[in-house]
Amino acid sequence: MKYCIVTGGAGYVGAHCCKELAAVGYFPVVVDNLSRGHKQFAKWGAFREGDLRDHAFLDAVFKEFLPEAVFHFAGYTYVGESVEKPLLYYNNNVVATISLLDAMRENACNNIIFSSTAATYGNPQYTPIDEKHPQEPINPYGQSKLFIEKILEDYDRAYGIKYSALRYFNASGADEDGEIGEEHDPETHLIPLVIQAALGKRKNVKIFGEDYPTPDGTAVRDYVHVTDLATAHIKAFERLAHTGESISLNLGTGKGTSVLEIIESVRRVSGRPLEAVMAERRAGDPPVLVADSSAAGKILDWKCRYNDVDAIVKTAWNWHSKNL
Ligand code: UDP
Repeated sequence: MKYCIVTGGAGYVGAHCCKELAAVGYFPVVVDNLSRGHKQFAKWGAFREGDLRDHAFLDAVFKEFLPEAVFHFAGYTYVGESVEKPLLYYNNNVVATISLLDAMRENACNNIIFSSTAATYGNPQYTPIDEKHPQEPINPYGQSKLFIEKILEDYDRAYGIKYSALRYFNASGADEDGEIGEEHDPETHLIPLVIQAALGKRKNVKIFGEDYPTPDGTAVRDYVHVTDLATAHIKAFERLAHTGESISLNLGTGKGTSVLEIIESVRRVSGRPLEAVMAERRAGDPPVLVADSSAAGKILDWKCRYNDVDAIVKTAWNWHSKNL
C-alpha cells in the first residue's frame, strides 16, 4: 500500500485531495486537529486526530504508516483574522510546519507537497502573475506561507527534503459527486456567500467595491476548481518522486472573473433571484489577481477540467443546496 500523510485532510482542499489520492490507488492518512476541519470529510483512508505541534503524536503516525510523502494543507487561511491575531498564524502555520518537517526528517520521509498561496505575492506589480513575480505579502497570512516556502528551501539544502510549493489562486467549487464541499465558519468567500443569498440563507450579498479599474468596476479573481487543484497535487507528487527536484508553481486557470460575473453565474445556475448591494472596498483587496499557470501546465502536464465559471459554480451550488 502506498501511504501518504495528508495534514488538514478534513478541510476543504485537503479532503478533495484525499478523494483523488484514493481514486488513483494511494492510501491517504488524514492528520487533523479538527480545529477548523470537519470529521465527516475524512472518509478516505485513515484518520488520526492530533496536532502537528505534538511531536510524540506525529512521530507515532509516521512510524505506523511509513508514508512516501506528506501533503501539507493544515493551516489557518483568513486574511482579516491574521491581521488581528498574527501570533495565531505564525504559531499555527509556521511553528506547526517546522514540527512536521522535523518529524519527516527523523522518519526519513523526504517528499512534501505544500499548500501555498497567491497571497505570498502581495499587491500585483503585473498580471497575469507568474512565479518570478516578487513575493511581498501584505498580511500575516501570506507572510506565514512565504516563511514556510523559505523554510522548505533551507530544509531541502540542509536535509534533502524535497518540496513542491503550490501557490493557489481562488480555490472554488465542490466535488462533482457532491460528497464534500466548501464549508467555512465564518464564511468569507464570495461564491459560498452568493449561493447562501440565492438559497435565502442571507438577505443579500455585498459587492466590495464598484470603482476598481476593471471592465465592470468590480474586483477580478482567478477561480480554480478544487478538484483541479487536487489533481495538480498528485501530479506534483509524482513528478517530485520521479525527478527529486523541488519546485514552486502557480495554480490557476489564467482566466479572470469579476464579482459581478460570479453573481450573474449564480443567478443563471440556480435560477433564483438574489439581491446584491454595493459596499465599500475590503481592505487589502487588489483589483485583479490572475495566475500565469503555464509552468504548471508544462511541467506537470496539468490542464484544468473546469474552465468555465458556470461549470464551477454548478458544482458549488450542487453541494450547498444539498447541505445547507
Ligand atoms: N467579495 C465580495 N463580497 C463578499 C466576499 C468577497 O465582493 O461578500 C469579493 C472580494 O472583495 C474579492 C472577491 O470577492 O474581490 C473574492 O473574495 P474571496 O474572499 O472569495 O477570496 P480572496 O480573493 O479574498 O482570496
